[in-house]
Amino acid sequence: MTKLTAIRGFNDILPAESAKWRKVEHILMQVLDAYGFGQIRLPMVENTDLFARGVGEATDIVEKEMFGVVHGNQNTGADEDDKSFTLRPEGTAGCVRAVIEHNLTRGDTPKLWYMGAMFRYERPQKGRYRQFAQLGVESIGSPLPDADAELIAMTAMMWRRLGVFEHVSLELNTLGEAHERIAYKTALVEYLTAHFDGLDDDSQRRVSTNPLRVLDSKDEQTQAILLGAPKLSDFLGEESRLHFEQVQNYLHTLGIDFVINQKLVRGLDYYNKTVFEWVTDKLGSQATVCGGGRYDGLIGIIKGKPEQSEPAVGFAMGLERLMLLIEAVNPIADTTACDVFVVAGENVYMNAVLYANELRTHRPNLRVKMASATSLKSQMKKADKSGAGFTVIIGDDEVSSQTVSVKNMATGEQVSYAMMDFDFY
Ligand code: ATP
Ligand code: MG
Repeated sequence: MTKLTAIRGFNDILPAESAKWRKVEHILMQVLDAYGFGQIRLPMVENTDLFARGVGEATDIVEKEMFGVVHGNQNTGADEDDKSFTLRPEGTAGCVRAVIEHNLTRGDTPKLWYMGAMFRYERPQKGRYRQFAQLGVESIGSPLPDADAELIAMTAMMWRRLGVFEHVSLELNTLGEAHERIAYKTALVEYLTAHFDGLDDDSQRRVSTNPLRVLDSKDEQTQAILLGAPKLSDFLGEESRLHFEQVQNYLHTLGIDFVINQKLVRGLDYYNKTVFEWVTDKLGSQATVCGGGRYDGLIGIIKGKPEQSEPAVGFAMGLERLMLLIEAVNPIADTTACDVFVVAGENVYMNAVLYANELRTHRPNLRVKMASATSLKSQMKKADKSGAGFTVIIGDDEVSSQTVSVKNMATGEQVSYAMMDFDFY
């Protein structure tokens, strides 16, 4: 029989590692709370149409990375409505769908976050997987530059609290408005067409499908050609320019440094005005830890009524890349899974189980672990390895005197306590 293993690009996160994940997630959630963002829990599967419409047909995600259409019934291979479902490749489309469906913008400007698995059919490598986790944040309803700056400031606070602030840098750009980009695209396509033969294959294809994406081509010769290309900044109107300037003013005031990268266009179709990325030089070519921007048109696009859109800005943070970055520059100490280990002789094990439950009841914050009713020696070995601060030992003598022996694992010192005295720790 073939050995069953996890699917390529899908990872297990084992207990030692997941303890670190929980610490990081906790810090992220503290900052989200500090900024007054509320959690929204979204489905992992949506109608395929949502992504086609919401992410954009000409994006990498929709063109080649949508993972596994799943069916309502695996046995018959079809769901009731014979619709196509897709594992979510990103969270914004689903979040916007929920905001519309539940009318969350009526009388409110919702500030939302979600954390969880995303799926993309990509070639797995370090920092790039087929299932990965993101923190997504969406701030909906404000067209003003303070909303853009607030998200950037919030991520900066996250980096500070995680001890990675010195190892990331902020890149900023503006994509202007759709009509400005149209004028720019025309000029850009004209330029690229004149230099068509020198472009790499992907870029040649993109000249007709998504010319702005040519700007972030990794190909050297294409980049050399781009040096002479028209610049989007020359096509911006007063409103876009002012918005961008004000975002920068907020960041200056908050002491957040950035560089303007005119080639930053982001992979998704729906952005306008501000786009940003936090990048690091510690993760090789998977350098972007977090990316986001403004998407004032998306809500209208998903509604199918462009004129009824609402302004919004958001970002997504790749949590595997964040964990790799933390591991590289400011590793989290290994933590133990328990505080107290309870061991007991086989014939009094029942008493020990009862004791451990009482201890957990009286001291709900203590992590109390037991092995199983094997030999005392093998239980003690497990207690030694567990990293527990104290081991509670219960034998025949302890049961008859209604005491426990509490061993301090750091000093080896052993003290007797009344069985119902739970304050030794
Ligand atoms: P990239 O250019 O690296 O493919 P992207 O532009 O596709 O990134 P987004 O869609 O903006 O990425 O997603 C936001 C973040 O999610 C990325 O900056 C990255 O940290 C993380 N991310 C994206 N795809 C993956 C993946 N396949 N595996 C792990 N993390 C990912
Ligand atoms: Mg990608």
